[in-house]
Amino acid sequence: MRDNRRIFLFDVNHTLINTALYHTQALEVLEKGLKKHTDAKSASYITERYDEIFLLMVAGFLLKTDKEWKEIRGGRTSYLELMKLITKHQEEVKNKWGFIKKWSREVFLKIAAEEIDVDITPQALFELGTVYWDTITRLTEPLEEGKKLLSHLYSKGYPVYLLTSSDGRLTSNNGFFEYDPKLSGSYKKNRMKALSLKGLKFRDVIVGDPEDKPLPGYYERAIKTIEKDMKKKIHISSFVMIGNSFEDDLETLMEMNVGTGVLFKKGSSPMKKKNDIYRVGNLMEVVDLLSL
Ligand SMILES: [Mg+2]
Repeated sequence: MRDNRRIFLFDVNHTLINTALYHTQALEVLEKGLKKHTDAKSASYITERYDEIFLLMVAGFLLKTDKEWKEIRGGRTSYLELMKLITKHQEEVKNKWGFIKKWSREVFLKIAAEEIDVDITPQALFELGTVYWDTITRLTEPLEEGKKLLSHLYSKGYPVYLLTSSDGRLTSNNGFFEYDPKLSGSYKKNRMKALSLKGLKFRDVIVGDPEDKPLPGYYERAIKTIEKDMKKKIHISSFVMIGNSFEDDLETLMEMNVGTGVLFKKGSSPMKKKNDIYRVGNLMEVVDLLSL
């Protein structure tokens, strides 16, 4: 018999979609946009550096060992230098909020433009960030298995919510970057709603603005939002969280005694790891594992 109390929470990136797949195509559109603010040669330089900065940030997120870093130009040192620069640009954000938004594309653009002394207005930086993200949203196709699993859950009447990180959209004021969680969050929420038109069925999205995954405050806010949406108190054991990162998606919720955690590692064989943590290599395996 199916458990009527279950509520499903999904991470988005690398679980239901793959944003990085569309990054390269978005660069072309970004370069076109940059040409409205500077000459063609500078636009091309800034786009190239923006790409390098993005890839170095991805490396910083994924790589763990010195051996892995040896493959990357500039190695870990260049990543740490970049992080210092990103932090410096967000001093005001850090003072006000206690954190920085390290993936902010507006800051990547600013750093790239500064290297060749091209001055792009704060407003233009934000507009260019929008051009980049809008292109990615337009191109994004949800992963097939994700669409299938969400449709299956929908047909069985299980509520589904998306738990996604912030895009870190930053505006600027007097030469400093500024963070408005409402603006950043509603932008991301609209991007996620566009996915529902591409076959992903869900009830609502909880975005990492202001606090983001894996902070307990993020999950507490998520649960409050869901309780409000469902108009009832929900016990933490009713939640099933599905994501591709143990640290970002599962660890905090496990500490809060969430009902079930599912780690999605593409291609790995399905297994029960311990207690209520499962691993799947294909999202649809969740159906059999949890008898849905
Ligand atoms: Mg993810």
